[in-house]
Amino acid sequence: MRIITVSPLTKQVPERFSPSGANWILKCHLRGLFKNTNNKGYDLKNNYAAALGNVIHKILDINSSNRINTEEEFNIIWQLTEQEEQNGGLKYLVKNYARYKYAGKRLILKEPDGVFHERSNFLWQFLSERWLASSDGFLRGRPDTLVLKNGLPYEIKDYKTGQVFREDIPEMSADSGADFYDFIKDEYRNQLLLYAYLVRENYGFFPTKLTVVTPDGTEISGPCIPDEVTGLVSRIRVMQQNLTKLREGELASPSALNCRYCNYKPDCPFRIITEPGPYGDIAGTAVDINAHTFGNFTITLNSGQKIFMPQPCADMDSVLKLKGKPLFINNVKQSASHPDGYSFTKFSIIYNVQQ
Ligand code: SF4
Repeated sequence: MRIITVSPLTKQVPERFSPSGANWILKCHLRGLFKNTNNKGYDLKNNYAAALGNVIHKILDINSSNRINTEEEFNIIWQLTEQEEQNGGLKYLVKNYARYKYAGKRLILKEPDGVFHERSNFLWQFLSERWLASSDGFLRGRPDTLVLKNGLPYEIKDYKTGQVFREDIPEMSADSGADFYDFIKDEYRNQLLLYAYLVRENYGFFPTKLTVVTPDGTEISGPCIPDEVTGLVSRIRVMQQNLTKLREGELASPSALNCRYCNYKPDCPFRIITEPGPYGDIAGTAVDINAHTFGNFTITLNSGQKIFMPQPCADMDSVLKLKGKPLFINNVKQSASHPDGYSFTKFSIIYNVQQ
């Protein structure tokens, strides 16, 4: 259990967007208005898979300036980058670690002919994490990999560490092809479309192919449709205008799914608190804090809900100072016997939101 003090949210209409940011804001426009650099990393989950994703993105970044040409070079850089991200490595902390590593290696070293070998430069160029900006500066971003064929845009590859398919379709076997591309999550498809827009702005042509690379290295590709790209860019421009015109309540699209991992959830007045479960959330003002004999404690909220800390706490002073403060607590577990009873888990974080 950790305690994090967060500053109140401030508001600012963004002048520019990144493909991933724009996509995130499209789901709830209010996110586009909220700004609080102090609160970066509300850290709503303890996610080693995300740390491994960072390793892969850092390697792509390194590859863009100092090209990685061989497996040996890849392995050395992987090891150094992994240590930077997590002392002792991530091998035993992330499910399917070997698949992620293989997929990263494949993304950097494999050529589109399907053969896993050292790269040549005759026909194909792989540009990793290359900065691209629209001519008016409205959109900026770095696709994981831009593939050029004879100097012209051919393919954009975006590497994903999570589930790539929408949740509302039956389970599918891993394979590649346009049929599967139709079932990838909207946010991943949109991100590829916005990268395609940036490519057209910088190279004068849209790429032919858009690809999501899954954790096991499977490539799911579809065609780049120009009307789809320009339609999405228009939606984002309208969204930006709405941020200056509409009230907060009109911009907010709260839902259990949207708010679940939203960075602004600890302080957002429109948030939906997910149902407490093994990793549920809870919020309220701490009206009472009882320190118990074995160094554990119970916090009582103004709603009557009580959260029990089953382990001894090393920093009871900080816990006692939370009395009277508005709190947002994530990853609590509901008691089976008491409807208002909860316990902290090892992933719980208490957010003390300053007023
Ligand atoms: S917490 Fe929910 S309503 Fe508030 S900004 Fe995030 S997604 Fe939107």
